[in-house]
Amino acid sequence: MSIAAPVLEAGATIGILGSGQLGRMLALAAARLGFKCHIFAPDPDSPAFDVVRRVTCTDYADTEALGRFASEVDVVTYEFENVPAEAAMFLAARVPVLPDPGVLATTQDRLAEKDFVAAFGIGTAPYEAVSAPAELTAALDRIGRPAVLKTRRFGYDGKGQATIRDGTSAEAAWREVGGQPSILEAFVPFAREVSIIAARGTDGAVECFDVTENEHRDHILKISRVPAAVSAATAEEARRIAGTIAQKFAYVGVLAVELFVLRDGGLLVNEIAPRVHNSGHWTLDGTSVSQFEQHIRAVAGWPLAKPVRRGRVEMINLIGSEVEDYRSWLTIPGAAVHLYGKTTVRPGRKMGHVTRVFAE
Ligand code: AMP
Repeated sequence: MSIAAPVLEAGATIGILGSGQLGRMLALAAARLGFKCHIFAPDPDSPAFDVVRRVTCTDYADTEALGRFASEVDVVTYEFENVPAEAAMFLAARVPVLPDPGVLATTQDRLAEKDFVAAFGIGTAPYEAVSAPAELTAALDRIGRPAVLKTRRFGYDGKGQATIRDGTSAEAAWREVGGQPSILEAFVPFAREVSIIAARGTDGAVECFDVTENEHRDHILKISRVPAAVSAATAEEARRIAGTIAQKFAYVGVLAVELFVLRDGGLLVNEIAPRVHNSGHWTLDGTSVSQFEQHIRAVAGWPLAKPVRRGRVEMINLIGSEVEDYRSWLTIPGAAVHLYGKTTVRPGRKMGHVTRVFAE
């Protein structure tokens, strides 16, 4: 049973589990509102550590440290969805944890997540659970090819995924995902990929940012554009879907819903992220309130802001060695450069981003 969240006073301390760039940008937004942040994460080389007052750097299984952390913060939130459930539950018995750790159990498992949204009549690609090669063969007969096999847990940026085309053997796909419990999804011939970022406050109010169109390279988000090239009806439906998911979870904070847009404008949910999201980074420079501030307002029990967009916005991720070009971005009028302070460049690693706002 979780502890009811209080309305925080400015000056209170927000605990954040996780220490990547999302934690860093959450902490910066919190600081602007007068809060202090205490980050709990295991990796000493962490972008968020540079910008906060307090750090606990140890394993999520260290209950002594978790107990101390709980006694030193007024509320706990997280910047990634793979927070071990035990750590979240341990904290929730001692301090308010928002969003509720129960949300993690659903969003950490692609099958539970798809079952959850499907139960509310929200569309997804046809899918089936698969836990052995023979089940995959049978599921392929029903779902057809092409199809996508995805591990139920710990997949991101296309990891733990195999596309099954006409010539692909079921065994090879099964090996490619490491023979782990998975789901098989029909391949969606989408017209575009979009996401919607929504915030829900402790009072149940929901605010959505404008629908964002996302372009991926090698399964990693490269560019987000706002507004997405979708009809008003599709944008409204995206807001309805995000609002329904937020309400059904009794969610508090920011969440992102990734959607496929079909040629007829229909929408299918691909994935829910129970946190601030890369496709919402444009809000830092492109709206009156960022997704990070909105999340901090929500977990603090403060009123959400109504986002007012400042124009047409583009967000470009600086991935791997692309970050080395940051000086040329600095000279482009209107470009806002964000660097995450990561010490090691690796291929595929998100090192920073640039936002550009244009008159509409
Ligand atoms: P995910 O990890 O589920 O977000 O998938 C990563 C990317 O793979 C998505 O952004 C899509 O481009 C692609 N993808 C995932 N699932 C499907 C699907 N069922 N049909 C078509 N493309 C997909």
